[in-house]
Amino acid sequence: MDHKDLFMVHTMPTYQYKRIIGQKYFYNGEIRIWDGRQLRCQHNREKQKCIDCKGSGICPHFKIRYNCVDCKGKGICQHKTQKSSCLKCKGKNICTHNTKRQFCKQCKGRYICRHNQRKYECHKCIFESIVKELKHKATRK
Ligand SMILES: [Zn+2]
Ligand SMILES: [Zn+2]
Ligand SMILES: [Zn+2]
Ligand SMILES: [Zn+2]
Ligand SMILES: [Zn+2]
Repeated sequence: MDHKDLFMVHTMPTYQYKRIIGQKYFYNGEIRIWDGRQLRCQHNREKQKCIDCKGSGICPHFKIRYNCVDCKGKGICQHKTQKSSCLKCKGKNICTHNTKRQFCKQCKGRYICRHNQRKYECHKCIFESIVKELKHKATRK
C-alpha cells in the first residue's frame, strides 16, 4: 500500500465488517464517518439532522423541521406545542390526569421516584445517588 493513502480519505469498503469505526470514507462524493452502525456526516453527526450539512431534517430556522413551530412541522399541533406533549391534544405523552405522563405522580411516571417526587428534584434521591457514587469509588480502589 502506498503510504500516502494514510493521509487520504479512504474509499468505503462495501462490506461493513471491513469498515473502521471513526474512519472517514468517501461515499457518493462526500466525506462520511462510519460509526459502526451508520454513516455520519463529516461533522460526525446524523447527516439529516446536521445543521452544517443543511440536512433534509433541518429547516431554515436551524431547527429539526419535524419539531419546528414556524415550519408547522409534523410533530407540532395547532396549539404550537409538540403534539405528543400537548395537553389540549391529549398527546400520547399526556396521561388521563392531564399531566405529562413521565411527571405524573398518580401514573408513577419514569421521572417520579419512590418518594413520589420528581427524581431530579428529590433531595433524598440526590443524596442517595451521591452516597452510591462514593461507595462505588471506594470499592473500585
Ligand atoms: Zn454535517
Ligand atoms: Zn422551521
Ligand atoms: Zn395541541
Ligand atoms: Zn397520570
Ligand atoms: Zn426520591
